[in-house]
Amino acid sequence: MNAALKKKLIEAMADAILAHADELTVLDQAIGDGDHGLNMKRGFEAVLAEADAIAARPLPDALKTIGTTLVMKVGGASGPLYGTLFMALGKELPPEPTIADLARALAAAIEAVKARGKSELGQKTMLDVLGPLQVALAEGGADLASRLPAVANGAAEATMPLKAVRGRASFLGERSIGHMDPGARSSALLATAICNAIGA
Ligand code: ADP
Ligand code: MG
Ligand code: MG
Repeated sequence: MNAALKKKLIEAMADAILAHADELTVLDQAIGDGDHGLNMKRGFEAVLAEADAIAARPLPDALKTIGTTLVMKVGGASGPLYGTLFMALGKELPPEPTIADLARALAAAIEAVKARGKSELGQKTMLDVLGPLQVALAEGGADLASRLPAVANGAAEATMPLKAVRGRASFLGERSIGHMDPGARSSALLATAICNAIGA
């Protein structure tokens, strides 16, 4: 993957998070402590500041650097979890991945996030978007870049009726029902940004 595409992907992810930071904050105000927008903004601003240097590295190293930057800058629960996700993708992906490589790497990265968060699918977290994305990638087929955003956004919406059992939202118990999970929303935003940048 060339440096220009890696830079484009970094900018697309950062732009999406910066453009939707207030929305992520509002979602986290409803069922958490209201910092998810700021946390993610801080993390992706730091990634964006290093975009040229990161994009110059082979994809696996670039992803690992994004992961360590997110761990350092995002904070909260989501920092280590998104950090783990990107670091695991960096560990699993070859420099020029196929769709099959992406499906396999995302499966491994999801396992790493689960281990880090002691969490499972269905607990109203970012995993509830990452899981369906992995399934769609594994199924493959034509036009993935144009189909995956709907998968991701539908999966984020589908966290609304769930009761949170992990993270701060779990403190609310039944009262977490009816709200979209902020981390699920940020995962959908990142996936959509990546697909749009690749498809464009
Ligand atoms: P904090 O909750 O520490 O303030 P953030 O607000 O940045 O951190 O991130 C909250 C998001 O992190 C949640 O919406 C959820 O998607 C995700 N999350 C929290 N705990 C876990 C966990 N144990 N496993 C997976 N995801 C989690
Ligand atoms: Mg929070
Ligand atoms: Mg917090």
